[in-house]
Amino acid sequence: MLDRLVDLQNTDEKIVAYQREEDKLPKELETRERKLQDLEEQRKGIEEELAHFNQQLADLDRELEAVKESTRRFQSRLLVVKTQREYQAVQREGEAARKKRGELDGQIKELREEMQGVESQMRETEQAIEEERASLEKQRTEMGKALKTIRKEREDLEKTREVEAGLIGQNDPELLARYQKVFERYKGQGVVKVVGGVCYGCFMTVPPQLYNQVLAKGTVHSCPNCGRIIYVEEN
Ligand SMILES: [Zn+2]
Repeated sequence: MLDRLVDLQNTDEKIVAYQREEDKLPKELETRERKLQDLEEQRKGIEEELAHFNQQLADLDRELEAVKESTRRFQSRLLVVKTQREYQAVQREGEAARKKRGELDGQIKELREEMQGVESQMRETEQAIEEERASLEKQRTEMGKALKTIRKEREDLEKTREVEAGLIGQNDPELLARYQKVFERYKGQGVVKVVGGVCYGCFMTVPPQLYNQVLAKGTVHSCPNCGRIIYVEEN
């Protein structure tokens, strides 16, 4: 009966391992999906930044146009001035307009340079998004296949388990229930070896009298400390 319990436990452990894998794989994918979302957020931020830059650039261009327009006006006014004083006043205005124009040209140049940096950042982000999306797609396909295989194996093991549990349950339903209780409590390991008087589930020494009973193999015993079913291995 103990051998059968050990077999059942081996099957149960495999089932638990497959279940863990089935839970783990989709979580890995979620992490990747979050990474892609972060990149897309980043791209949105850059897009907004670029829109802001374009707005600034349009404002500066408009200002520049206005300055050019006033320069043209000064030039035509110069043709009709009559006195030296008038001439000097128009000259001064023209000078101020030229200075303003130089400033605006400088600002526009600076802004365009800044924009180039942001634009190259945008290209890098878009490239990263594309790569991430492709590799996510690949992983999703691979995971789908892996999950299918794992699920199939787990289902086969569950069938085996049913047979194994049935064999024990027919003879000793109480023992089967006892095993299942400890297996669930410890998330695996309902049956453990005793080696040299030590329980291999909790690593406490089993009382000598009980150890002798376990060695005698007449009945099934549990570790008084952790409650796991204990057995000794054949030499
Ligand atoms: Zn124990």
